[in-house]
Amino acid sequence: YKDKKKTSPYMERLRQLRVGDFKSLPISIRENISIYDAIVTMFTQNVGSLTVVGEGQTLRGMVSRKDLLKSALGKTDLQQVPVSIIMTRMPNIIMTTADEPVLEAARKLTLHQIDTLPVVEAFIDEKGEERYEVIGRFTKTNVTKLFVQIGSLGAQ
Ligand code: ADP
Repeated sequence: YKDKKKTSPYMERLRQLRVGDFKSLPISIRENISIYDAIVTMFTQNVGSLTVVGEGQTLRGMVSRKDLLKSALGKTDLQQVPVSIIMTRMPNIIMTTADEPVLEAARKLTLHQIDTLPVVEAFIDEKGEERYEVIGRFTKTNVTKLFVQIGSLGAQ
């Protein structure tokens, strides 16, 4: 774009796209379910990562394909051991919100080399601590679909 101080109107519109308009429904499990049941859930729900939640859909952690594969390699009793043992847990979870620009969320996915961001709403619990309610998930697939959508604009 010729004038370097201005960005193109297309770029401006791209920057205004928000996570809330492109997110998917969250697929969540409780932290006391077995690794075995988490694997089954991953297949039946056809997702690559599951959010692990407590009471009121509060975010506790994430469990991905590789977490499950790793645990399946060892001598772990998959039917007995809960996912809480192998999940990546809070406060180490990278999150997004419905009003975050899609570009910013996509940057988090590439920067941290992960497939899924839980979409959350922050709230203060009865102990005065900040917690996050899971309201969706934003994945590389959402970004890819958006990319195709933008690329197809005007194409007949
Ligand atoms: P996969 O294991 O299928 O390649 P990811 O690349 O998303 O999936 O996960 C890699 C690692 O990062 C796993 O250990 C997983 O628990 C963790 N992880 C997944 N999503 C997040 C997230 N949003 N924030 C922090 N860690 C995550």
